[in-house]
Amino acid sequence: MRLSQYILPTLKEDPSDAVVLSHRLMIRAGLIRKESAGMYIYLPLGWRALRKIIGIVRGEMDKAGALEFLMPELTSSDLWRESGRWDAMGPEMFRIRDRNGIEYALAPTHEEAFTGVMRNLISSYRDLPKNVYQINTKFRDEIRPRFGVIRSKEFIMKDAYSFDMDEKGLEYSYQVMRKTYRRIFERCGLDTIPVEADTGAMGGRDSEEFMVASEVGEEVLLLCGSCGYRANREKAGYKRKDTKSGEKLKGLAEVVTPDVKTIDDLVKFFKCAAERLLKSIIYVADGRPVMAVVTGDRGINEQKLARAAGASSLELAPETVVEEVTGAPVGFAGPVTKKDIRILYDLSVKNVVNGITGANKKDLHFEGVNPGRDFSIKEEADISFAEEGDACPQCGSAMSSKKGIEVGHIFKLEYKYTRSMNVTVLSEEGVAVTPIMGTYGIGINRTMAAIVEQHNDEKGIVWPRSVAPFEVHLVRLGKGEMEIRDTDAIYDMLLKEGFEVLYDDRTASPGYKFADADLIGLPIRVTIGKHYFRNGEVEVKQRKETQVHKIEKDGLIDLITALLSVS
Ligand SMILES: [Zn+2]
Repeated sequence: MRLSQYILPTLKEDPSDAVVLSHRLMIRAGLIRKESAGMYIYLPLGWRALRKIIGIVRGEMDKAGALEFLMPELTSSDLWRESGRWDAMGPEMFRIRDRNGIEYALAPTHEEAFTGVMRNLISSYRDLPKNVYQINTKFRDEIRPRFGVIRSKEFIMKDAYSFDMDEKGLEYSYQVMRKTYRRIFERCGLDTIPVEADTGAMGGRDSEEFMVASEVGEEVLLLCGSCGYRANREKAGYKRKDTKSGEKLKGLAEVVTPDVKTIDDLVKFFKCAAERLLKSIIYVADGRPVMAVVTGDRGINEQKLARAAGASSLELAPETVVEEVTGAPVGFAGPVTKKDIRILYDLSVKNVVNGITGANKKDLHFEGVNPGRDFSIKEEADISFAEEGDACPQCGSAMSSKKGIEVGHIFKLEYKYTRSMNVTVLSEEGVAVTPIMGTYGIGINRTMAAIVEQHNDEKGIVWPRSVAPFEVHLVRLGKGEMEIRDTDAIYDMLLKEGFEVLYDDRTASPGYKFADADLIGLPIRVTIGKHYFRNGEVEVKQRKETQVHKIEKDGLIDLITALLSVS
């Protein structure tokens, strides 16, 4: 492709509204342009890179035996009503009506649509297993679109859905996708961190997110450097530290604390560290009050709490319930109580020495509270969010934390849609069986942004070859008739060899052309300049290296081939 005929609006300066590195570079390198808040146009160079990613995803999905569909973006509200999500999806789902008043959703995801079509396509155990997918646009009415294409209103996703006869089949399909995802991201040149994710009621390795470490990531990951444990913050567990401070135990004493209720207030009032406080929060779990107690430096993880309580519904107790079960207004609850209430203690509580907690009376707290003496821990569980420095749940080493962008997610849906949408197939014995599902997504645009986040330097993008929009950036420096003819001949030669070449045949200064080449970051730069016209030498440089190779025209193809194989 000749640059003189291309559209490549590179920018020297950072755009003012782009706060994230990938966003800045993608705009500066002429890959994307903003259309409006949360919507982006892919210019020719950006669309080529995106298509490379799509090609890798499609190739690996096909290799894994998945079957590609193309589904409508308008999904009928009837389907969403069947699964119960027409109401549950909330304001993130774009809803529209046609001229006859029939309602549709602009698909934010396609579980219903795929379950609906598969219901009519499978009828017997002979039709299973199947894994069906598409690479298509998704819509989400983001309340706060940001970070360029990382969180936008419209994006391309690869979404796949597996249908199996039983759990064993699902486990197999899931593991195939796990391996496929690892290969896809590896081929994209992305260093991903697969982490265990929370699946609500289901435990075990039933959900995995593929995260890319990034300062702008919206998720927090907990990682163990010793044993390799990694999980997102919702899911991550931690181990109790079994050491106690050697402090002498004080006696239990009431302290008047007028209007001192929050953790911050208490820390200031008692001039103590937050971990000395025993934060006690009343919830209603399946209709019954339960008190959750954690140290003041930790947050209660409601998903963990619900699981530990064995509850399918959990919410903060209203004030009236708090007053009823503690005998005091909100802010003064604590585990030192004679009332008959179920109390779940976080792992952080047991080794607290001389703690402080609400006295279940208005404007009163206890200090010198010691677990085991002043209250007994009957139910202990991990009910708080794991934090950096916590002991790894597998090996006990201190965990570190990182922020991450989620680029892929695999998840065992089990029977959620096949049951609600009445999908059955006949088993070998002629019995109607409900198939079991898995779902597997990859955000294509985010993957591209993540690649740019991971592959760049101060001059611009440094594309891995697999996803680079072109392989070779040919730069012509000569302006004379003969020089143009000779460089054109090299361009033709490279095309004939099958390389993807972007040919800078514009009339511009060498500095301008090199700056553009560095900014858009194609793997190999080939320069035809004065060395060529003086002594027949072509200059070849890899974007990621500083070394310039000088070689005669005859050796050019071999050198490019060799350098590309390591790009
Ligand atoms: Zn560990």
